[in-house]
Amino acid sequence: MAKSSKKSLTPASATTPMMRHFLEIKADHPDSLIFYRCGDFYETFYDDAVTAARELDITLTSRDKNSENPVPLAGVPYHAVQGYLSRLVDKGYKVAIVEQVEDPKQAKGMVKREVVRIVTPGLVMDGDNLAADENNFLVSIFGHEKRFGLALLDISTGEFRCTELNDEAELSNEMVKLTPREILFPDAWRDSEEIARWLPWNARPLIDYRADVEFDARRAEELLCRQFQTSNLKGFGVDGLPLALRAAGALMSYVQETQRQRAEHITALTPYSSKEFMVLDEATKVNLELERTILDGRKRGSLLGILDRCRTPVGSRTLKRWLNYPLMDVARIRERHNIVEEFFLHGTLRAEIRELLARVGDLSRLSGRITMGHGNARDLVTLKEALQACAELKVFLDQQRPDLFVGFSQAVDPLPDLTDRLCRAIVDEPPATVREGRMFKTGYHSDLDSLILMSEHGKDEILRIEAKEKKALGVPSLKVRYNRVFGYYIELTKSHADKAPAHYVRKQTLTNAERYITQELKEFEDQVLNAEDRRHELEYTLFEELRRFVTDQTASLMLTAETIGILDSLSTLAEVAALNDYVRPSIDASDAIHIEDGRHPVVEALQKNESFIPNDTHLDCSDRQLLLITGPNMAGKSTVIRQVALIALMSQIGSFVPARKADLSVVDRIFTRVGAADNLVRGLSTFMVEMTETANILHNATSNSLIILDEIGRGTSTYDGLSIAWAVAEYLHDHLRAKTMFATHYHELTELTRAKPRVHNLNISVREWKDQIIFLRKLIEGPANRSYGIQVGRLAGLPDPVIQRAKQVLHILESGKPDRLFDDRPSKRKPASSPNQLSLFSVREVERDHPIIDELDQLSPESLSPIEALTILFDWKKRRSNENP
Ligand code: ADP
Ligand code: MG
Repeated sequence: MAKSSKKSLTPASATTPMMRHFLEIKADHPDSLIFYRCGDFYETFYDDAVTAARELDITLTSRDKNSENPVPLAGVPYHAVQGYLSRLVDKGYKVAIVEQVEDPKQAKGMVKREVVRIVTPGLVMDGDNLAADENNFLVSIFGHEKRFGLALLDISTGEFRCTELNDEAELSNEMVKLTPREILFPDAWRDSEEIARWLPWNARPLIDYRADVEFDARRAEELLCRQFQTSNLKGFGVDGLPLALRAAGALMSYVQETQRQRAEHITALTPYSSKEFMVLDEATKVNLELERTILDGRKRGSLLGILDRCRTPVGSRTLKRWLNYPLMDVARIRERHNIVEEFFLHGTLRAEIRELLARVGDLSRLSGRITMGHGNARDLVTLKEALQACAELKVFLDQQRPDLFVGFSQAVDPLPDLTDRLCRAIVDEPPATVREGRMFKTGYHSDLDSLILMSEHGKDEILRIEAKEKKALGVPSLKVRYNRVFGYYIELTKSHADKAPAHYVRKQTLTNAERYITQELKEFEDQVLNAEDRRHELEYTLFEELRRFVTDQTASLMLTAETIGILDSLSTLAEVAALNDYVRPSIDASDAIHIEDGRHPVVEALQKNESFIPNDTHLDCSDRQLLLITGPNMAGKSTVIRQVALIALMSQIGSFVPARKADLSVVDRIFTRVGAADNLVRGLSTFMVEMTETANILHNATSNSLIILDEIGRGTSTYDGLSIAWAVAEYLHDHLRAKTMFATHYHELTELTRAKPRVHNLNISVREWKDQIIFLRKLIEGPANRSYGIQVGRLAGLPDPVIQRAKQVLHILESGKPDRLFDDRPSKRKPASSPNQLSLFSVREVERDHPIIDELDQLSPESLSPIEALTILFDWKKRRSNENP
């Protein structure tokens, strides 16, 4: 958050009553900008004005320009305030809204104003600041003796949960999952340097320090009971989570302070335990690119980008939560697989339900908005349509396999009474404002009907009265007219004046006519003239009544929304599985991971030219515990080890997986470490980060963990790095027994298999062809023979002289006579002649009759650039995959 370092402009006292009032409010809300309502504007003063002018690009002027102490001032028009608020909140500011709370016309002296609401990044309700597919979390944290209580709330959906964490690492993992917009800490931590370590490095939440009493246990219980209108908290299962409860209490108190009303859609506090879920730490989430890519931080190109084809925002948010909290209980995982399978096998069922779901829309934010009084009549129409879709959905679910769907059907409540009322009440296309009527249909409320009739059909009514009077008097020339002086009147020509009945009150005499008023006309006139105003008022009252009615159903609406989210996620996983040809994994509590023809879900989807080459993997704790994968750069090492982690993870969120067959065991943690990963934001050197992360694995992995190590040790000198990599591998083998895939360019590591029975060497096959390198992408047993760096350099377009010289240098180094590096004369000997080099060109068994080699051999080498060679390879692979689909 940008803060001005300049000297404060805001004075300690002011001269005018209004400025005094402003200063009082500012003193109560020092960390908020004050939007002070004056007529048609919200004004900001002093320092706030300077900030607002800068951040919103509005003009900074001053009040009382000619006085000695002009007040800096910047204002925004009230009707456009929402846009300005959104921009400030986006930038991490809090804004206190000060409204006029009495009618200025009736005010004696200064208009009464007060803070009606504080807008803050962690608590936004309005669409502008909310990404549909993401939650917007406010988090509150309380710590005691290195344990932490954490509570989180998305006020737009009413999701309110809490948990306790055993140490800083767990806390920091949780923060990464939640990426909160705003965090509340006890004031006692104000100067703590630790806090920075707990925050996810890619999110910049607003931090608020709250008075320590806010975290008081008794106060928390009281507040929460009042919120849920219960006498105690027994029903919520939060017994035994005292720290979480204290965090939740402080959070709820903050909600009340900022919203100034009870947020009735927050109906429960749900505890959860991180023990139920697979642990994913920050490095793993980043390296596996679960939600966003490393390169550009976008969802596209991440796993979630592939999986999220949800038809509702609620579904997208649910899926994202699942991705952050993969299950560990075999039965629960199978339950999800069962339903995904049902949707997977029955394409029509899937298509139909997804159509219905799409019509439901964002039910949780919709009802949240209505409950908090931010909704309008259009929201009620949307709600009606959503509920109608829910009704159809329920009928549809009841026709499906009851063993799978009955629970869902029961949880979906289409609220027929509410739907009916909404249908009768609200017109199809109501206006966006709620204060100017035209929201309600006729027939809904009789008083309103007459007001509508009056305001819209005043003329008809006049004609009716006129006709009635003509008939009663038998005078066809009788007229009803209007003038400003005495309003509506009846006019009779002089010749008929004697027919005027007694209840006609004469108002005016003209040369040839008399004008009268009647009781009926006067009443009518009152009605017409006030009808419009009264209609606005009555419609607003009726709207509030209806809103109240919706609010009373909040608990059902929230449960229905949650169910919609789950159904959407499950049917989406099935949809993605069908589109991408995934299979249902089998999952158990054994220790083996067995994947046949596994693929990387993202690489295969984004790869346009080359078809993806699938690979088998077998890992277990007793025999193949540590797989060492060698092979040249660009061969596909990183891809293959990540795909195993992704397959394990996908399975545990309930998804099918990209493979021909997958027999998996439950994984309690996935660790993914990448050598020399950049984490400059944290201010640690890259190698230090790499080592800290590696230490973290060695301390925390269990025999049920899956460890993916990619080029560990790269961040330091060769021998250092190699030694560390060696020692880490030994430790993993001897002490942890965690299933590990270790991709490395240190060929020396392949020697480990000599002494360590559970270590296996694998490599990714490549073929050399006329001094060039062809990637076959197949994972095969045995170590690679060398790293082919020079050939890859050539592929990348290094100039030919550089390639030639590199070959020479390599040869000299390998010959063990480094002095010759400084020999001016170019070496006459052909580089590829040492025994070591010769072995590099040997053709291994699996590759000997590779058809591509024949094909390439038939072409003339001079005419072929590396790119052309690759193109041939791509073509060949495409043909091959078309032949055996
Ligand atoms: P390494 O880690 O060995 O340097 P990568 O795993 O980064 O190699 O792979 C390099 C590129 O090769 C990937 O970006 C991808 O485009 C391609 N690739 C990797 N594995 C496969 C595969 N199995 N099938 C097709 N293309 C692949
Ligand atoms: Mg790599």
